[in-house]
Amino acid sequence: MALQALIHAFYPPQCITCHALVATDFGLCGDCWRDTPFITGLVCGKCGTPLPGDPNEAEALCDDCLQTARPWQSGRSAMLYRDNARKIVLALKHGDQMELARPAGEWLARAARPMLQPGMLVVPVPLHWGRMLKRKYNQAVLLAAALARVAGLQQCPDALLRRRSTGSQEGRTRDARFASMQGAFQANPRRSERIRGHHILLVDDVMTSGATFAAATEALVAAGAASVSVLSLARVAKQA
Ligand SMILES: [Zn+2]
Ligand SMILES: [Zn+2]
Repeated sequence: MALQALIHAFYPPQCITCHALVATDFGLCGDCWRDTPFITGLVCGKCGTPLPGDPNEAEALCDDCLQTARPWQSGRSAMLYRDNARKIVLALKHGDQMELARPAGEWLARAARPMLQPGMLVVPVPLHWGRMLKRKYNQAVLLAAALARVAGLQQCPDALLRRRSTGSQEGRTRDARFASMQGAFQANPRRSERIRGHHILLVDDVMTSGATFAAATEALVAAGAASVSVLSLARVAKQA
């Protein structure tokens, strides 16, 4: 494409994390690719944590998901939250590097493939409005939009509303996280038509305990969603 070539002449494509020059737009250089823990092989069917074993095995669950009942149907994650994946998530969250959402959309779509179904509605986990003002944008909204584009699905950025601020979850114990997230979301009454009877794919940047996904799932189920599946860009996992 002539325009693309012209743009490249002035702005040669760079690696999205180290800015080394690369052959294609919106990708990682070889070194950064090797340092990014993309999840492959057998995974937990509820959160996407990688597990040892044959990927063709029947449904497998990680220790976390065996201990904690998950209200959603299935879950996946594109990468483990460490090394370069952690850098990418933090850059997306704090660094105003919105261009990262485009390759992230491709990685999310690949991870989500076993869960995708026609007519699924992509819904981001909302930030509290106070944080939204501080951050200017919600990274989950960017990720959901990028994924919806790649997967050819509809998205609804305001299907869920935060009812109250839950503060930072960092440093809290698992039980405290679940307690603080209880009832944190409600389905947007103005979007009930799009939720009721539909399969929902809930998107967030990071899954740690799963407390946020659980509260958001409960709000969607209460609003009549046919099913909810969850997708995170990066999973904080003990075992790797
Ligand atoms: Zn690089
Ligand atoms: Zn799991």
